[in-house]
Parts: sequence; structure tokens; C-alpha cells
Amino acid sequence: MEEEKKKTAREIIENYDGPKVRIMEVCGTHTHEIFRLGIRKLLPPQVELISGPGCPVCVTPVGFIDEAIWLALEKGVTICTFGDLVRVPGTKMSLAGAREKGAKIRIVYSPADAEKYASEHPEEQVVFLSVGFETTTPAECLSVKKAKKDGLMNYSLLMANKTMPQAYEALKGSADIFLYPGHVNAITGTELCEKLTEDGVSGVVAGFTAKELLTALAVALVKFQEGKPFFVNCYPRVVKAEGSREAQQLTDEMTEACDSEWRGLGVIPGSGVCLKEDWSAFDARKKYDIPPIQGKANPACRCGDVLQGKCKPSDCKVFGKVCTPQHPVGACMVSNEGACSAFYAYGDTQ
Ligand code: SF4
Repeated sequence: MEEEKKKTAREIIENYDGPKVRIMEVCGTHTHEIFRLGIRKLLPPQVELISGPGCPVCVTPVGFIDEAIWLALEKGVTICTFGDLVRVPGTKMSLAGAREKGAKIRIVYSPADAEKYASEHPEEQVVFLSVGFETTTPAECLSVKKAKKDGLMNYSLLMANKTMPQAYEALKGSADIFLYPGHVNAITGTELCEKLTEDGVSGVVAGFTAKELLTALAVALVKFQEGKPFFVNCYPRVVKAEGSREAQQLTDEMTEACDSEWRGLGVIPGSGVCLKEDWSAFDARKKYDIPPIQGKANPACRCGDVLQGKCKPSDCKVFGKVCTPQHPVGACMVSNEGACSAFYAYGDTQ
């Protein structure tokens, strides 16, 4: 008997006729790549992709921007930051607006660049805006280690670093399947994702190429129809069960968990990362005694709902009208990883 032809990942996705399923792209890069590669066009109507909280700029709260502006305008420090953050609206203005008022804002490509700038400008106090997840924290720790080695007293971090496990907890029930961010799992390993299946949370780790994304979605759809919680690592060439021990050790050595505010999700206990007491000279909040600042987002902005998969960007009343990449009202329209910028760039019809 002739063996039945094995279906390709694409065929599995296109021909899916199982129950309705909501898949959350935890990572903003996945959102953009899935749009860019035209994968949304392949999905049958009962497969819904929703955006999640994995864009570091998007989940950073308004109050963090306000803190950076306070440091720049009140303390005269030089802010070094990735470019995206410069255009994110704070309560009264963005860092770009602060720059017009005389704030020193420098765009850098890494924390190492910021540390180098500090070493070359001893007359300036330099603060690097440290945001991101498990993937970025090790590089930020390394910059602090280097600053200590170089004897710098003019370099520190304003940290809003976060860790994903608590976010998965907070988002339980928002989706049927998580598309886990491969680069985060490359650092953390897969133990947590495997454990989450015991609480009924299903997911697959996905890479970033067309083949890797199609494979991950196809595996997710096949497993979903089996009716049991599951976890599959579909990015094994990069993600190992144990993750990166080196990165984990560095982060453990220098940082500890703290409560952290996420845009849209509020304060999630233990979901943040801050420097341990031994490194407090490099903690900008302590160094400059930053007062508590409660940021206020534009009331029209629904970034919080977008980040929890509660609405699509195009459901936001100001999407594409008042809020565009040229004039962003919220963080999700600014960042290259933001869901609103993806919907704006590729359209909602795919
Ligand atoms: Fe916020 Fe703009 Fe997205 Fe609306 S379209 S949720 S205002 S970023």
C-alpha cells in the first residue's frame, strides 16, 4: 500500500479544521515576522493570533519615562538609551521632548556603548535606560561590571528589566497556546514551560525563520487537537533544556528579584530585576534618590489591552488616525516589536 504523503507544516496550518484556538505571540518579534512573512494569510478563521507582552519597550510603564526625564532635566544627567524609548510618550512629554528642553539624550546600541561613553566623558553623569527581559539583562550586568573594573563613578542603570515567568502566570487563561519567545528560552531553558503544562498551560518555543514559525504553529495545532496540555521545543538548534548557564550565573550574581510594573498588567510581584546591594552604587534610583513617580498614559491608548490580548490594535479608536508611527500615542506604536506598529505596517486584513 502506498504510504500516505506526509503533510508539510504549511498544509497542516491551511487545512486545520479543529476547534477554535487562540495563540498568543508572546514576543513582539514573532508578531512582526508572522506579519512580514505573510503567515497570517494562511490561517483558517478559527485560528486567532493575539499579541502578548513580549515587547520590552511596550511593557515599560509611563512612569519609567518620567523617571528618565526627571533625571535628565532635574539632575542634568546624560541619558543613554536605545532609540525606541526616545519617542515613547511619558506623562507630559517624551525623551525627545525633553531633549528640546535641553536634556542630554544619547542613542546607543548597547549598554557597553553607554559605559564607554561614560568612561570617555568623566565630567558627565551617565545613566543607561535598562529595559528588557532575560535576554538583555546579562549585557547590562556586564556593563556595570566593566564600569566597576574601570573605576567609573559616573555610570549607572535605571532599571525596568523584567522576567517572563510571572507574566505567564498573570496571563494564564488569556490564550489557549503560548508561542514562547525563542531568544528568552535560549537563556532560561525550558523547565518553566514544561512545568506550566501541569497548570494546564500549553505552548511551543518558536524560532524566527519562516520554516521555524510554520513548524511551531503546525505542531501547536496538531497537539491542541489531542486535548491535553502540552509543551514542545520547536527551536532545538538554539534552545536547550538547561538554557545558558553562563548568563544565568551572571544575572544571579549581580541581581535579585523585585516587584515591577508592566504597562497594562500593573505591578507583578517578583517580576522585576534590580541590582543587589553590593552593586547599589550603579543603581540610578538609589544614587539619585528618585522620588516615587506615578506615570499617566494617554486615556485613549489601549496598549494595556493590546499587551494582554484583550483587543487588537485596530480596535483602538485612535489607531492609524491620531496614533501613527510618526506621531505615536502609545508605546506599542513606537517600537519595532510593538503590535500596533505591526498592524499599521502590514494592515489588519492578513
Ligand atoms: Fe496605544 Fe496607539 Fe496602539 Fe492605540 S494604536 S493602543 S494609542 S499605541
